[in-house]
Amino acid sequence: MTQFRNLIGGEWVTGVTTVDNINPSDTNEIIGQASHASAQQVADAIAAARHAFPKWSVSNTQLRSDILSNIANELFARKDELGELLAREEGKTRAEAIGEVGRAANIFRFFASEVVRIRGEKMASVRPGIDVEISRDAVGVITIITPWNFPFAIPAWKIAPALAFGNTVVFKPAELTPGSAWALADIISRAGTPPGVFNLVNGVGAEIGDALLDGVDAVTFTGSVRTGRQIVDKAMGRMIRVQAEMGGKNPLVVVDDADLDVAVGCAVDGAFFQAGQRCTASSRLIVTEGIHDRFVNAVKERLGKLVIDNALKAGTQIGPVVDKRQLDQDMRYMDIGIKEGAQTPIKGELLKRATPGYYLSPTLFTETTNQMQINREEIFGPVASVIRVRDYEEAISVANDTPFGLSAGICTTSQKYARHFRMHAEAGLTMLNLATAGLDYHVPFGGRKASSYGVREQGTYAIEFYTIVKTSYLSV
Ligand code: ADP
Repeated sequence: MTQFRNLIGGEWVTGVTTVDNINPSDTNEIIGQASHASAQQVADAIAAARHAFPKWSVSNTQLRSDILSNIANELFARKDELGELLAREEGKTRAEAIGEVGRAANIFRFFASEVVRIRGEKMASVRPGIDVEISRDAVGVITIITPWNFPFAIPAWKIAPALAFGNTVVFKPAELTPGSAWALADIISRAGTPPGVFNLVNGVGAEIGDALLDGVDAVTFTGSVRTGRQIVDKAMGRMIRVQAEMGGKNPLVVVDDADLDVAVGCAVDGAFFQAGQRCTASSRLIVTEGIHDRFVNAVKERLGKLVIDNALKAGTQIGPVVDKRQLDQDMRYMDIGIKEGAQTPIKGELLKRATPGYYLSPTLFTETTNQMQINREEIFGPVASVIRVRDYEEAISVANDTPFGLSAGICTTSQKYARHFRMHAEAGLTMLNLATAGLDYHVPFGGRKASSYGVREQGTYAIEFYTIVKTSYLSV
C-alpha cells in the first residue's frame, strides 16, 4: 500500500495518523494511505522553509527557471499516469484529469519563463544627486492550502509562482486528494529544489490550521467560504499577507436571441461536467421568457443522454461525486429545493454501476426564484436551477443579486447585451457564449464579493502576491 507521506526539510517523514484514500468510483478500492502530520511536524516544515529562505530568495533566476522546467517536463511526460491517479482519487473523468495534469505542466512552464522576466523600475528623484529604484523581493515562507477539486492545477498555480519569485513553501493539500499532492511533491523534490524550499504536510485543516499560519509570511487558500473567512481573519490577526479564493453561485444568462444549441452546450457543460464540483460552475441559469421553454426542454433532453459512470471507464462523461459527505450535501439541497417549491423536470437519483461509488445523476430545478436557498448557497454538485425572467434588464439584475462574484456568463447574439453584460456583471470573470467554467492558464483568475479576497492569481498578475515591492534611494 502506497504511503502518502510528508516532505519536511527534504526528507519524507511519517506522520502521526494514517487515513485511507478511497476511490469514489469504487469504494472497495483503497488507493493509498495518507500520513497526517502533527502540529509539531507542521512547525518543523515551517522552520525548514524559514531556514532555506535566505539562500533561495536570492538564488540565480536561471536555476529557478531550470527547476520549474524540470517539473513541467516530468508532468508532461507522465500526464496519462498522473491523470489516472487523479481520476481515481477525485472522480473526475480520465480525460478531464489528464487535461488537468497538462494544465499544471503548462503553468510550471509559464513561470519557468516568468522568472527570468522579473523587472523593476528606475526613476528620477525629486531631489538632486539621488536615484530611485523600485524592485521586487520574495515575500518569505508561504503556506499554500488547497481543495480537492483540482488537486494538480490549483497547487500548481500557487506553488509555481511562489518558487519562481524566490519564496519557500509549506503546502497543505486537501484531505481527499493526498495521492496527487504526493506525486506532485515527489516531482518537485527531484527537480533540483534544495531541501526545505518546498515542503508538504498532510492533515485535517481544522486540526493543523493554526499551526500552518504560525511563523509564516503569507498564506494563499482556495476552498470553502467558511474556511476562507476564518483564514483571512487569522491572517489579519497575525498581520500576514493573505489571498483567498472561495465559492461561487455563478449565473449563466440566456437571452431570447441566443443560439439555442450554444446556450444548451454552455449550460450542460458549465453546470454538470465534473459533477458540478467547480467553483466556476453555472449554478443559476437565468433565462428570458421567449426562449425559456425551448431551453429547458433541450437541456432536459441533453441531460438524459449523459453517461455517468466510473471515472476511469471509456465513454464516461461524468464521474461520481467526491465522497459521502458531498453526496449527502447534494441530496440535502435537492430536498430543500423541492420544499421551497421548485419543479424538477430532471431529478437526481443515486445510480448503481458495476463498481460501488457515489454516482448521482443531474438535477435541474425550474420555476425557481433567486431568493430560494438553492439559489443563494453553493451546492457544489450536479444541481442547477433555472430562473425565469422577463427580459435582459431583469436578467442582469438577478445575475448580480448574489453574495458571490466569481464567474458570470451570457449567451446572446446581440452585441448590445454582450457589451452591457461585460461592463456591468459584478464578477471577476465574464464569459460570452462560453460556459462559466473552463479557463486559460496564463491570464488572471479571481472574483469579487464573497468569492475572493486579495489580489488576483495566475498569469503575469501572480507576481503581486508572491513578491513585495522595495523602493531604494541611492545617493550617487
Ligand atoms: P471543502 O469543502 O472543499 O473541503 P474546505 O474549505 O473545508 O473546503 O477545505 C479546503 C482546504 O482548506 C483543505 O485543504 C482543508 O483541509 C483546509 N482547511 C479546512 N479547514 C481549515 C482551517 N480551519 N484552517 C486551515 N485550513 C483548513
